[in-house]
Amino acid sequence: MCSDLAIYAAQESQSRGRRYDEPAPAYRGEYQRDRDRIIHSTAFRRLVYKTQVFVNHEGDLYRTRLTHSLEVSQIARTVAVALHLNEALTEAISLAHDLGHTPFGHAGQDTLNECMRDFGGFEHNLQSLRVVDQLETKYADFAGLNLMFETREGILKHCSKRNARELGDVGERFLNREQAGLEGQLANIADAIAYNNHDIDDGYRAGLITIEQLREQRLFEDQYRKVRERYPELEDRRLIYEIIRRMIGTVVTDLIENTRDNLERHKPASIDDVRKAGTAMVTMSDDIFAQHRSLKNFLHKHLYSHEQKLAMTKKVQAMVSDLFAAFTSNIDLMPAQFASAAARLDEAGRARIVADYIAGMTDRFAIAEHERLEA
Ligand code: MG
Repeated sequence: MCSDLAIYAAQESQSRGRRYDEPAPAYRGEYQRDRDRIIHSTAFRRLVYKTQVFVNHEGDLYRTRLTHSLEVSQIARTVAVALHLNEALTEAISLAHDLGHTPFGHAGQDTLNECMRDFGGFEHNLQSLRVVDQLETKYADFAGLNLMFETREGILKHCSKRNARELGDVGERFLNREQAGLEGQLANIADAIAYNNHDIDDGYRAGLITIEQLREQRLFEDQYRKVRERYPELEDRRLIYEIIRRMIGTVVTDLIENTRDNLERHKPASIDDVRKAGTAMVTMSDDIFAQHRSLKNFLHKHLYSHEQKLAMTKKVQAMVSDLFAAFTSNIDLMPAQFASAAARLDEAGRARIVADYIAGMTDRFAIAEHERLEA
């Protein structure tokens, strides 16, 4: 596999390594080991019961954070192979990118951020790094998963200057205006491609958007016409699927070709050249990017804003703030390892432990905990 890597891909020999030294794996590469550690993590297993857009028990067919992460990984790996990037690293970052998400999707994250306002806030992307760096407790020699620098760099998509200063090595690029390696850039874009497309499917199924509305989006309309022309009798469900799969194909092909052009223009000779380039190289063409962004805005308006108005969202917000209030006023309501960690800390530190505990919950566990505390 490694012999096929481009010079600008992440190479183990040029890696900034792990925080704690470990013997090299016998039968796997270092980034394969990272991917395997992520798959075996507790946070990864919980993604199956966490909301993407729709609350987990609203229907069995909607995406969860787990199936979303698998779709991100699929898209990103396809591009990684086409560009001779490091596929195992790309997969590791893709599978880990949402590990820090709270229960109940956007509503849960926004509420927890509000609860943490006086204590540094809550940000799911930063939390994903915290999960792999500190919160997983599976190894005798260290806290967290002790992942390679490039994996951690890819997981941290964005970061405030204040947080960057506290993060040390992995935060430096936000202070120095540098980029992540190509695999990190790729996982980030694959995330956007995945949700833009699967949210059409989920939103249509939920009855929140119609084919007529979607046809105002050029990315959709171009494929709609081609599919309609070739299959005039196709029923709507299959029509939607056929259009979505062609949309993914269009955007992914554009991403590969445009990135290839960027790489030929910049000619990076190493991952460090990529980091110092001053501009991202894994990008769509301007035209497709504009169409993609328009679709994203459309979905934001019709799905996510609509979701804000649902009664479910209000319930979920109340649940998260009730849980936060209950655990901060009595830390012993949390399991022993959280309670004893919190007992050693000041008010801000205790709040952070409570946020860690709540963020780790699945949708249904949060509901059950809320019922338990109310009883
Ligand atoms: Mg995501």
